[in-house]
Amino acid sequence: MSNKALAAGLGNCPQCHKLNVMHAEKQACSRCLTVFSTRKPKSLEYTLAWTIAALVMFIPANIYPMMVFYTLGKPDASTILEGIAIFIQMGMLPVAIIIFIASFVVPLSKIMGLFTLMYNAKRKTQLTLKQQDKLYHVVEFLGPWSMLDVFVVTVMAAVVNLGFLTSIEVASGITYFTLMVVFTIFAAESFDPRLLWDNHQKYHHRATKTNQEYNNKGEQQHGK
Ligand SMILES: [Zn+2]
Repeated sequence: MSNKALAAGLGNCPQCHKLNVMHAEKQACSRCLTVFSTRKPKSLEYTLAWTIAALVMFIPANIYPMMVFYTLGKPDASTILEGIAIFIQMGMLPVAIIIFIASFVVPLSKIMGLFTLMYNAKRKTQLTLKQQDKLYHVVEFLGPWSMLDVFVVTVMAAVVNLGFLTSIEVASGITYFTLMVVFTIFAAESFDPRLLWDNHQKYHHRATKTNQEYNNKGEQQHGK
């Protein structure tokens, strides 16, 4: 037994946040009739599937060209890494840094964060609940920012195309990159952070109280 809503037979409606008395694992909210479960069903399975899909997409995103540079009408396709090198050569270091952070640092740390969260939800971990919570929020926060790379490439294409000597077009690599970003967003969305609490209590019995103790404490505080 524990001091969680789940153990007390309560579930929070994700739509209107009414605390419902649960009669089954899945039921309709008594106020807004949204059908919901106490925990996202198959959360870890879906998170794992989307994360692996994102990791797989990272490969073609880096192998296939992201940009095609035209110098005096001669096309020259470049992958993300080659593109970064070209921007450095052109003296556009800030653009190169932004593309590097957006294409490597952000997506890879997000994928690693998701694996860490999944591990923490399943096994005994050295991280405290607070650290796990922070990690979850960072992973959630990183999602839309990964798209920065796509914006930079398209904006660069627009800016450079205004000049006549050189032009840039986006190439197929950007499709895989976008898919990777979308998959990591789905992965973070599938992850139910409450699993971290469930698992934490499974391994840290000291932190758990019986329902009875919890209720008694509540009454005492109420009486004060
Ligand atoms: Zn509701």
